[in-house]
Amino acid sequence: MTEISKGVSYIPGQDEFIPDSHVFVIGLPESKDLSLVDAGLMGKGAYKVKSIGEQGIPLQDIKRIIMTHTHLDHIGCLREIMEQIPHAELWVHEEEADLLEKGDERGVYGMDMFQSMCMSQYNLKPGAFKFDGIRKLKGGETLEIGGMSWAVLHIPGHSAGSIALYQSEHKVLIPGDTVYADYAIGRFDLYKADATALSRSLMRLAALDVGVLLPGHNRVVKGVKPGYILDTAKQWAPYLR
Ligand SMILES: [Zn+2]
Ligand SMILES: [Zn+2]
Repeated sequence: MTEISKGVSYIPGQDEFIPDSHVFVIGLPESKDLSLVDAGLMGKGAYKVKSIGEQGIPLQDIKRIIMTHTHLDHIGCLREIMEQIPHAELWVHEEEADLLEKGDERGVYGMDMFQSMCMSQYNLKPGAFKFDGIRKLKGGETLEIGGMSWAVLHIPGHSAGSIALYQSEHKVLIPGDTVYADYAIGRFDLYKADATALSRSLMRLAALDVGVLLPGHNRVVKGVKPGYILDTAKQWAPYLR
């Protein structure tokens, strides 16, 4: 686990034949009010929890897990982590929280073929990703957590309930799988993906002053050059209509 910016650390994903999302730990350590952003792939819960412990962070300081979205590579080990941190709340955008509470896993697996492959590969049963008591985010909130302010932006497109977290003081953006380093963007062919919405969401992110970009996969970037997200959005615009 590495500190990237004040009050923001990350545990890199350990990709297998399916990617494992990064986990970000946000909040000032002295606040004892920390949040995890995303969980990761099945089987990676112990690694993520161990990484937190190695930093000397008591698990009781982790108060919540906020999901950027609920694709399998982000939610796969959520239950493993929650078993270790049972007091933690789960915060998810309402579009995907409703599906999780109903046990509707289309938003987790994204497509039928992938679902049957993963269920057999990982021995997953129907209902593996049913969660109750979720705090539902709408987008537009400012979360005052861990001694920091994070704006929640609803950025549909990669999935229906994708959110970004943005901390304006240190110019930190956690965009989930909507935009990555190296001019890459999230796929837009899975359940309830929407290319037009993705294009709009990229333009919303492009309007933010971003110095630190912390996507769900691949490189995290400090010293993002001005206009980077706008350039990325423009490059992809022809493919997103
Ligand atoms: Zn995703
Ligand atoms: Zn992902």
